[in-house]
Amino acid sequence: MDRTSEAKRKELVANRETLKRIFIMREDDSAKATLLKYMEQIFFGLQDFLRDHVGITEQRSLREMASRFQNSLLSEQPEKKLAEVITELVDDIAPHAVNVASPYFVGHMTSAMPFFMVHLATFVAALNQNVVKLETSKIVSIVEKQLLAKIHRMIYHRDDDFYSRHIQSVDTSLGGFTEDGTLANMTALWVARNRLLHVQDSFGGVEQEGMFAAYRALGIERMVVLVSQLGHYSLRKAAGLLGLGSRNIIGLPIDSQNRVNIDAMAETIQEIKNDPKTRIMAMVGIAGATETGSIDPLPKLAELCAEHDIHFHVDAAWGGPTLFSEKYKHLLNGIELADSVTIDGHKQFYMPMTCGMVYFKNPWAMDAIAYHSSYIARPGSVDLGIRSLAGSRASNSLILDSALKIMGTKGYGILIEHGIGLAKQFAKEIDARPSFELITRPELNILTYRYVPAHLQEKIKNADPQEALRINQRLNALNIVLQRDQREAGKSFVSRTTLRRSVDQGGDVVVLRTVLMNPMTRLRILREILDEQENICKTKLSKAFGAI
Ligand SMILES: *Cc1c(COP(=O)(O)O)cnc(C)c1O
Repeated sequence: MDRTSEAKRKELVANRETLKRIFIMREDDSAKATLLKYMEQIFFGLQDFLRDHVGITEQRSLREMASRFQNSLLSEQPEKKLAEVITELVDDIAPHAVNVASPYFVGHMTSAMPFFMVHLATFVAALNQNVVKLETSKIVSIVEKQLLAKIHRMIYHRDDDFYSRHIQSVDTSLGGFTEDGTLANMTALWVARNRLLHVQDSFGGVEQEGMFAAYRALGIERMVVLVSQLGHYSLRKAAGLLGLGSRNIIGLPIDSQNRVNIDAMAETIQEIKNDPKTRIMAMVGIAGATETGSIDPLPKLAELCAEHDIHFHVDAAWGGPTLFSEKYKHLLNGIELADSVTIDGHKQFYMPMTCGMVYFKNPWAMDAIAYHSSYIARPGSVDLGIRSLAGSRASNSLILDSALKIMGTKGYGILIEHGIGLAKQFAKEIDARPSFELITRPELNILTYRYVPAHLQEKIKNADPQEALRINQRLNALNIVLQRDQREAGKSFVSRTTLRRSVDQGGDVVVLRTVLMNPMTRLRILREILDEQENICKTKLSKAFGAI
């Protein structure tokens, strides 16, 4: 260490004086200027990064990066000043993070945000309310309840009377904010479980007595949740945690449009009803499947649930905001029949990570998961922590509430329509190209396709199952390499997934998946992405796969 850095190092000491300066800002102009200076450093630094790096991520292998992060010792004394830390974040970290805001990044459900989200998130961090209880959030809890009512109304369309009764009621809840979609789904299933295994006779309810006592009281051995095979894996996590066991999420077959097969659903219900040891805890309809964007026939599922008295949950983590589009909201018809609904804020509400929400048709449903602790939440208090899986929680509702004021439902509707419109155009483009095959036609803004060399297109259509299986295995290998090579080239990113198909349907199919939510993504860009894929296949892979 040379002498200047030695001297600089000496300045950085942790003591009561230096700590005081971190917690207390003077109220003069120079202190304000300091605050602004750091904000500028972050905003402008990141702005440059987002503009200059069209690419997905700078090419540097994970292994190489990991080799630079091998220090497991905490430093006792401060190492860096704030300005240095920000410089390091902007210059050394950001370029190796993924530029999810790039219009060429069309592989995942994380994308560009309106710029003001960063300002709103800063406000939330600066005010630092804890929505677990009124004493640390006050008006924020009340704003949250109003916003929950607004979105509840968008889903369920109850009348003025209903909302004036429940909007600020301390005894009821129309829903709640959660960490993410996973915990929103878990909350919905938690409510469903507790309502089914409620207090009766000498049994004190599952929440108090546990699953073993609950099953014994009911004389059953197993509970299941029914969903299509495209159900999100968060459902399995929930079943694991809630004591059902993750294998008791039953994945039902889908039809040619990736919607759950209603006949199979009805048959499965009958089968289970004939088995006195098994109970159906809930059925989940998907409104925007993660892999294909497809929407289950919600009205028919709701009808089955009503007939058999089953909790009907709709997982609209992805598709929920489609309700903002006058043109496409009909796709979600039947969602108003759901007992509970999941919607993610950090997906098509374009919020920063992370925000989930769960809504309940019945304003008393969440009583099934209410907890009271004497020092935090007393019965009859409006503390939102009473009925939530989370304890301490950020006031994300302020971000969404403000964003809705800035965008209007119309603004969100335009984003939804851009995505779905673009997906339809992209599907046409894929159909028109001889060496691609559209695998799932988009219902929302997600579609899947794969590279199939022109000479194989006819062959695979006419192949018997054995032959199809053989060709698909080769094509799967090819598309895996293609997706990886494109990602590694660093310019554009589509994701890859495997759609399950039985052997007599030709076996599993590896597909390329695009999620079209960035309003800066245009057909021109998608064409470039296809061109790049064709080039990769023609130049690099023809040798290896020429024989198929
Ligand atoms: C994303 C998603 C989830 C999970 O949400 P997270 O916010 O990632 O936890 C659940 N269901 C569906 C359909 C999703 O698309």
